[in-house]
Amino acid sequence: MTMEVRPQVLTALEHRVSGRRIQRPQDGRASNLSLVLQHLYDKPQLTRADLARKTGLTKVTISDLVAELIDSGLVEETGTTTGRRPGKPASTLAVREDAVDIVAVDLSMPGTFRGGIFDIRGHQHAETSVDVEGRTGADAVAAVIDLVELCVGMTTCPILGIGVGSPGTVDASGTINSAPNLGWHDLPLQDTLAERFSLPVAVQNDANAAVIAERSFADGPRDVMRVQISRGVGAGILLNGSLVIGNSAAAGEIGHVVIDRGGALCSCGKHGCLETWISVPALRRRLQEDPAHKEEILAEAGRRLGMALSPIVAAIDLPNIVLGGPEEFLEKSFLDAAEALVAERTHSEFRRDSTVSLSTLGNDAVLLGAVSLVLRTTLGVS
Ligand SMILES: [Zn+2]
Repeated sequence: MTMEVRPQVLTALEHRVSGRRIQRPQDGRASNLSLVLQHLYDKPQLTRADLARKTGLTKVTISDLVAELIDSGLVEETGTTTGRRPGKPASTLAVREDAVDIVAVDLSMPGTFRGGIFDIRGHQHAETSVDVEGRTGADAVAAVIDLVELCVGMTTCPILGIGVGSPGTVDASGTINSAPNLGWHDLPLQDTLAERFSLPVAVQNDANAAVIAERSFADGPRDVMRVQISRGVGAGILLNGSLVIGNSAAAGEIGHVVIDRGGALCSCGKHGCLETWISVPALRRRLQEDPAHKEEILAEAGRRLGMALSPIVAAIDLPNIVLGGPEEFLEKSFLDAAEALVAERTHSEFRRDSTVSLSTLGNDAVLLGAVSLVLRTTLGVS
């Protein structure tokens, strides 16, 4: 049996996160719907009485909210507590994993835009990609639209929304302020896609999307910085589970912090930026020049990363750093050297030492982050 997800319920839920300053009655209702959904998302097989206890809402309110969620197709009754608990049997509830599809797009790979169809648990059901070698500006926007169209064509359920992880700085409205590699400046990509597909769309910086994925799909901590090592070096930061965006939407852009005064010339015009030490092209070049000393080269790169991370770790008492990138470079020698240098420079009796570890999400961090962006912005679930 399939039930249609009523768009008006999703619209009501969207109010919760639409940035409105004036609280309206339906905003409070959307907030309560999200609260109930979050509990069922975190722990299936709860009863209405469990939900009332966990949320502090009355049983009458919970019954009403659950009825709306069942009616929307997002939640279903899965059985009863007969035999499991003392007292009168009650219906158990769970989020329906096959209720909706989420379209996720990753624009961060060189020469390729990737797209996928996911369910609300982040399970991937289909994947596709378009070749964008040499395509920039409006031509690259056309490639994004082509990719989303392909993805929409592969969906088999109502579409909850479209999530996009893009290189560059992205503001709160999903406008890409600047993505030099794609020739994008002040590009309202979120609005463009929302208008074209008449669906909720969430566009975010790729590194920010990836750190959200660590939290949502890799059981990551609430306070974490995720550093991505690729053509350049970028990072996303979560504090208390919330994304740090920054004054110019450029939080986490650590690649052009100078850690080697008078070092190699960087593409940005400065000398000795972090990228000149630990970007994939920089590491590849060093290893080609001196293949016999791989361990030492990777350890030195780890120490350079540690130099850039230490003041950040100390300033915000950051406990966890996760690294993403090619595993051929992110070996134990790299990770251990970064962790040791951060410990050496920040150790104090006031705080615990921070850990530096490898992400378990592989190449899918940005796609999964795009899924999580849609869940956060449409259902208020993370
Ligand atoms: Zn630079």
